[in-house]
Amino acid sequence: MKKNEALKKIFGFTSFRNGQEEIIDAVLNQSDVLAMLPTGTGKSLCYQLPGYVLKGAVLIVSPLISLMQDQVEQLRMIGEKRAVALNSFLSIKEKNRVLQNLSLYRFIYISPEMLGSEYIIEKLQTINISLFVIDEAHCISQWGHDFRPDYLNLGTIRYKLGDAPVLALTATATKEVRNDIKQYLHLYKPKEFIYSVDRPNISLVVEKLENHLEKKQRLVELISFLKKPGVIYFSSKRLAEETADFLRQNGFHDTAAYHGGMEQEQRILIQQQFLYGQMNIICATSAFGMGINKNNIRFIIHYHVPGQIESYLQEIGRAGRDSEQSIAIMLYCSGDEALQIQLIENELPTNSQIDSFYALPTGNYEQIQEELNLTETQFRFLQSYHSSNMNVDQVKAIKQERYSIKINKLQQLMKWVHSNGCRRKRVMTYFNEILLDSPVKCCDICKINLDDFQEKKKVDHNTVDSSWEKRLQQLLLLESGLQ
Ligand code: ADP
Repeated sequence: MKKNEALKKIFGFTSFRNGQEEIIDAVLNQSDVLAMLPTGTGKSLCYQLPGYVLKGAVLIVSPLISLMQDQVEQLRMIGEKRAVALNSFLSIKEKNRVLQNLSLYRFIYISPEMLGSEYIIEKLQTINISLFVIDEAHCISQWGHDFRPDYLNLGTIRYKLGDAPVLALTATATKEVRNDIKQYLHLYKPKEFIYSVDRPNISLVVEKLENHLEKKQRLVELISFLKKPGVIYFSSKRLAEETADFLRQNGFHDTAAYHGGMEQEQRILIQQQFLYGQMNIICATSAFGMGINKNNIRFIIHYHVPGQIESYLQEIGRAGRDSEQSIAIMLYCSGDEALQIQLIENELPTNSQIDSFYALPTGNYEQIQEELNLTETQFRFLQSYHSSNMNVDQVKAIKQERYSIKINKLQQLMKWVHSNGCRRKRVMTYFNEILLDSPVKCCDICKINLDDFQEKKKVDHNTVDSSWEKRLQQLLLLESGLQ
């Protein structure tokens, strides 16, 4: 099938969006490609369309199970049955059935961890792979060094799977992160398509509050006022849940919490309710977002500061995918960053935990994790460097370096919070970009009017028609139970 025919017949689109055609052309010409397109603008098409033009399967490395499931679901909705996600969601029986019939699939989604299995590689070697895609490729740099080391091996794996070109896709990667991606995927001379990270239809606002009580009050004010649906991001699962309860008790009945500690079924239910408008406000942790294909989110509120500008952009980028005006508001109280510092510390082991890990006899890792009271990420960090034969001092040095990088990223974000310059311009400077055209509704520093983001009240003719006396009478009658 030809490119333009696939665009219309398979995807039902009349034209390409900015960047898509160039990227697809480069992929079809067998080049390695590194592409950065802003969130929500249509990265998936860049590998899905070639799936209908090229002969062979498209293999997509994806960081999250929910993201894979979602992509497969979306492909099913356009009538594609030959798509599968190879992950721990499949039963052993299903997995074996898929692996025995790999050649039947046009799109195979897989996690980097699964690609670490020799058995899976052997199976994949039996089919013809026409394109090797790394979706959300910034994860190589963000997670590969800490707790998902399999990300760093993708460059070797690509050669084991034949000579298919590589397409690395991301929405948020600084120059350093892009260099990491190229290095670890062995992209020597890729075609690079780097589009601006800017999303002009999202206004950027930071509001500073005196204390947490004020912050909570402001949150209630904002969500009563702002056009919905919206997402409120928290750094703590507990606070996401507590706030959702609090909001429900205060009349916002269509509010739900969403975080990684919840049961999978519960999470899927909430995603669906949000998608179909039964829920309008989600109190979430960063676990919410990737793969949530709702295009009319009108506001994103950050109740806590995220860990870095990249995460901030990813999170606010979930708003306004329909190109309509949307807003991102960060609520900040002095000292909020302490929570992020604590999260960073929980991701990396302490020096004494490293010492103890090395002093204990290896073997039963599970027991060690429990004995040393390690978080999942601390444990994975230690396990991966330990099994690659690093000694104690080397691991301590790596840990220190990772810590400094993370703290530095947080500091950059804090500088942005406290800065008096245009917020959009500053975000773009961080990504080595220059803002050429600021939108009218740019940011709080460039002065915007919050009224422009207000929910239009539905007119209730019963109330409008009746006088205030009548309304009061009705209320009183209601209260005394006479009606
Ligand atoms: P992301 O860049 O975040 O991965 P997606 O690939 O999920 O974004 O696409 C975002 C939305 O844009 C989807 O709803 C998709 O159907 C739509 N889309 C993508 N390409 C086009 C196009 N060329 N024309 C119209 N809509 C498109």
